[in-house]
Amino acid sequence: EIVEFNTFFNRIIDRFEMSKSQHVEFKRYLPESSYFVEIDTDKLTQVIDNIISNALKYSPDGGNIRFGVTVQESVLKVMISDDGMGIPKENVTKIFDRFYRVDRARSRAMGGTGLGLAIAKEMIEAHGGKIWAESEEGVGTTIFFTLPYELDEAGEWD
Ligand code: ATP
Ligand code: MG
Repeated sequence: EIVEFNTFFNRIIDRFEMSKSQHVEFKRYLPESSYFVEIDTDKLTQVIDNIISNALKYSPDGGNIRFGVTVQESVLKVMISDDGMGIPKENVTKIFDRFYRVDRARSRAMGGTGLGLAIAKEMIEAHGGKIWAESEEGVGTTIFFTLPYELDEAGEWD
C-alpha cells in the first residue's frame, strides 16, 4: 500500500495523544511536503506503536516525547525521542535482540515480553530500512528508523 508518510504518522501520534493518561507532552517536527512510502500499514503501525509505548513507559511525569521526520537522499529518517531513564551504553544495541530487557526487575514491573523492538527491527529491515537507538542514562532515548520514499503516489520519479 502506498501512503503519505506524515498523514500516516500523525494519525498514530494522534491516537496516543488522545488516550494517554500521563502528563507527557508530544512535540512534532514533521516536514511540510508530502512523502510517499510503500509499506505494509498494519506492520508499520505495530512498529511505531511499540516505539511510542516504550517511550511512554519510560517517560517521567512532565517529560516530552518528540516526533521527527527528516528527509535524506533516498530515505525518510524518523525519530522518536523521550526524556526517560535511558539505557546504559553497553546495552543500547541489545534492545533489538529477542527477549532482551535492560533491567529484569524494572522490566517485569513494567510488563511486556521484550519482543517489541526485535519485531520492529525485522519489519523495518523487510521494508528496506534500518533501525537503531541512541541513549544516555538519566537523559533519554531516541529511536531512529529509515524508510525508502517516493515523491508521488504513483511511486515514480518524474
Ligand atoms: P514488549 O514490547 O514485548 O511489550 P518490552 O517493551 O520490554 O516488551 P522492547 O520494546 O523490545 O520490549 O524493548 C526492549 C527493552 O529495551 C525494554 O524492556 C527496555 O528495557 C528497553 N527500552 C526500550 N525502549 C526504551 C526507552 N524508550 N527508554 C528506556 N528503555 C527502553
Ligand atoms: Mg516494547
